Amino acid sequence: MNVIKSSLSWCDLKLNSDGLLPVIVQDYKTMDVLMMAYMNEEAFNTTVKTGKMTYYSRSRQNLWIKGETSGHYQYVRSLSIDCDNDTLLAKVVQIGAACHTGNKSCFYNEIYKANKDNKASNEVLEKVYDVILNRKKHPREGSYTNYLFDKGIDKILKKVGEECTEIVIAAKNPDSEEIKYEISDFLYHTMVLMVEKGVSWNEIYEELARRE
Ligand code: AMP
Ligand code: ZN
Ligand code: ZN
Ligand code: ZN
Repeated sequence: MNVIKSSLSWCDLKLNSDGLLPVIVQDYKTMDVLMMAYMNEEAFNTTVKTGKMTYYSRSRQNLWIKGETSGHYQYVRSLSIDCDNDTLLAKVVQIGAACHTGNKSCFYNEIYKANKDNKASNEVLEKVYDVILNRKKHPREGSYTNYLFDKGIDKILKKVGEECTEIVIAAKNPDSEEIKYEISDFLYHTMVLMVEKGVSWNEIYEELARRE
């Protein structure tokens, strides 16, 4: 059931100088930030009434049902207003890509990254995952990752199995260096499998957290 939980009304909102409300749009499942757009009162009311994210297009100066032409609709899961009533957060079920460029999120163009003294951390897992994902989308000649994708799931599974066995063998080996390489090989091939099967690190994190 849909419930408007707050007595807050449109006139309580602090609109920007164009009389619009900025809306941050987030994937309710992955929590990825997808895009940002604006609503006027009509867009807000239409969104609540239809359950489909509807914005106000500043360039076209009209109501814009996201997905109207692309089919990439956004179904509202929740709407939250921030502490000073000037920004809306929408959690949505995103059909297809949020960005008109075909990217999942509009925020694919990273322009600054804090230098963490190149300290290795678990972030590297997501970085490698993204590289693998990117290879699948844009194959590169001579790429071993693309070779695996081209050979298909059975080849990937065979490699995962082999690397797993190599971890076992390395663990029996008194040389403690080797296991490090084998676990890394295993993780890489597992990530190829994850990409092939459409499993994200987030889903793994969530599953592990759920078991705590
Ligand atoms: P759509 O609403 O996905 O059918 O796209 C219709 C039009 O809205 C596109 O041609 C773009 O001009 C615009 N548009 C769609 N998605 C976005 C977005 N995430 N950010 C900005 N403009 C968008
Ligand atoms: Zn605050
Ligand atoms: Zn605010
Ligand atoms: Zn975009």
